[in-house]
Amino acid sequence: LNRRLEGMGTTIFAEMSALATATGSINLGQGFPDTDGPEEVREAAVRALREGLGNQYPPGPGVPELRAAIAEHQQRFYGLSHDPDTEVLVTAGATEAIAAALLALLEPGDEVIAFEPFYDSYAACIAMAGAVRVPLTLRAPAFRPDLDELRSLITPRTRLLLVNTPHNPTGTVLTPEELAAVAELAVEHDLLVITDEVYEHLVFTGAHHPLAALPGMRERTVAISSAGKTFSFTGWKVGWVTGTPALVSAVRTAKQYLTYVSAGPFQYAVAEALRLPDSYYADFRADLHRKRDLLAAGLAAAGFRVFEPQGTYFITTDITPLGEKDGTAFCRTLPERCGVVAIPNAVFYDDTEAGLSQVRFAFCKRTEVLEEAVERLHGLR
Ligand code: PMP
Ligand code: GLN
Repeated sequence: LNRRLEGMGTTIFAEMSALATATGSINLGQGFPDTDGPEEVREAAVRALREGLGNQYPPGPGVPELRAAIAEHQQRFYGLSHDPDTEVLVTAGATEAIAAALLALLEPGDEVIAFEPFYDSYAACIAMAGAVRVPLTLRAPAFRPDLDELRSLITPRTRLLLVNTPHNPTGTVLTPEELAAVAELAVEHDLLVITDEVYEHLVFTGAHHPLAALPGMRERTVAISSAGKTFSFTGWKVGWVTGTPALVSAVRTAKQYLTYVSAGPFQYAVAEALRLPDSYYADFRADLHRKRDLLAAGLAAAGFRVFEPQGTYFITTDITPLGEKDGTAFCRTLPERCGVVAIPNAVFYDDTEAGLSQVRFAFCKRTEVLEEAVERLHGLR
């Protein structure tokens, strides 16, 4: 393993999911739903397979049906118009989009400012690009970005801001004021921006607004999202990029040599998913809102300090009130202590002190599973 990837051996998600399987624990670690997405979308994938749609290499930028549906979705929810032929790119999940965008846009030595705690692939992909990550720490209990601190982190080497809202793992959703301030700094310093919006439809408090919609942002923003979270098909790995023709073409160049193309039949099915009626999106959000409240109340009753998320399907907690200090040690022993798996937030920080006692729980699980997990966690005290 080269020096760039030193210390990045196995992702925490793989480690903790393996621990859940080995111990038969309830897995509130890795973020994936325990109920698959809509039947009609699954049927669309089966139909595509049977009818031979996408069984051979689909077009490099993605199948036209899906690119059109992505452009329609951006118009329908955000009033953003995109040319499906030049301003939309289909990727192997948001993960590939993040990798391809960073590899396409960065020069070695460039600095990338990203909110810490960071989703784990950011640090790895910035490293693979030979660039330097510069964390802007979101601090408990509010986990808001300090915009003066953001300004102070910008240097002549800063090339790019990597903005994740709704934010994994804290659940922070940037307000219109925060977005405007970020946009202003990006314009003032002529920075590129990558936005990771995979939880765009999972907002319970406030609303999601794409940065690309703000003045001066369209020409500098690579917006990324994915079908995994919105439609509960995390295994399908269908993601996408929207942006100007120049930015999308740059990302496509890198993508060509990472995967070339991705999962043909699933692209047709995701095109149908994106066109589901508003009621699908509203019901999905309402269901997860209830689950957020259920797990938050349960964790609080079990003695955790709970930081209520505005979005995503994760709850960050602090274990200090339980008489514990080290979230990583806590998560390694939690399965044997009570049969539940969670993720230590420390792995998402460079500043390990800041996240030491934080532990993340996922609530994208059936109600009875969450209730059982809460009951088990009660035994901790
Ligand atoms: N970004 C964030 C913030 C995530 O939490 C995840 C995990 N789903 C991804 C990107 C990756 O998305 P995908 O599964 O579509 O690759
Ligand atoms: N995004 C998911 C999470 O944060 C996991 C995705 C993965 O395993 N890479 O839990």
